[in-house]
Amino acid sequence: MNIKILSRNSSLYSTRRLVEAAKKRGHHVEVIDPLKCDLIIEKKKPSIFYKGKILGETDAVIPRIGASITFYGTAVVRQFEMNGVFTTTTGQSLMRSRDKLRSLQILSRARLGLPKTIFTNYSKDVGEVIAHVGGAPLIIKLLEGTQGLGVVLAETQNAAESVIEAFNGLQARVIVQEFIKEAGGADIRAFVVDGQVVGAMKRQGKEGEFRSNLHRGGIASLIELSDEEEAAAIKAAKAMGLGVAGVDMLQSSRGPLILEVNSSPGLEGIEAATGKDIAKSIIRYIERHS
Ligand code: ADP
Ligand code: MG
Repeated sequence: MNIKILSRNSSLYSTRRLVEAAKKRGHHVEVIDPLKCDLIIEKKKPSIFYKGKILGETDAVIPRIGASITFYGTAVVRQFEMNGVFTTTTGQSLMRSRDKLRSLQILSRARLGLPKTIFTNYSKDVGEVIAHVGGAPLIIKLLEGTQGLGVVLAETQNAAESVIEAFNGLQARVIVQEFIKEAGGADIRAFVVDGQVVGAMKRQGKEGEFRSNLHRGGIASLIELSDEEEAAAIKAAKAMGLGVAGVDMLQSSRGPLILEVNSSPGLEGIEAATGKDIAKSIIRYIERHS
């Protein structure tokens, strides 16, 4: 098969591993920078112009689209879809996954456990917003943050009020969320491919840090998911329409609570923690579907 990996940087671990896994299984694989694709839209077959020529035969694409290029990256993925090319992540599910609020609405409709969350149009009644999630301590998240940046823990009512007011004053969109204390600064990442969990890890934030992101110094270890956690991860990926997903959950006293569903989950942390060949699982998924 002809497989294209949509990635800005072929030296990134995840990109390299996918190339390696595809080659090992006898495929022809190429890394394409989505920002260097020009999309040709006309009455006939929609095509893609890349580095001075029309992009050749493609059977499947693996989008590895960073948060900063969601808009253009999604357009490129859609262009492949228009041509009937199989993609591990559709443009629509990619776009949805990048909007924390929309994702939570979708997950809520699927009846998945979530931390109670409130979104308002810069309400002046900050006290009421805080009361909705049960008061401080609480979490405030910028809607477009990633890698733990833009996630704030407000420990007191006063801190919560001033942080929310400050974001409102800047017209920055935030969600306010109940703080799940019993998660103990850890979360679970379940890597779902084609409706199955192919690997899972627990990430523990460094001492004194409530955010468990590896980018913030969190440490990953192998974890065996409970049946409930596994079912929640699979259901979340399905609700989001993602064939490849990194589902993040908090372990709470009322069961797993979904935090977010990643559409370009990194392979480095999960392969290191589990010792599994996740890249191969993704290539095999393509083989089954295209
Ligand atoms: P990002 O997209 O920046 O990774 P997340 O919503 O995943 O944002 O939050 C980052 C980290 O902060 C999570 O991995 C988790 O460890 C912690 N966290 C987020 N929300 C909560 C919450 N409601 N209660 C407790 N911890 C949380
Ligand atoms: Mg996260």
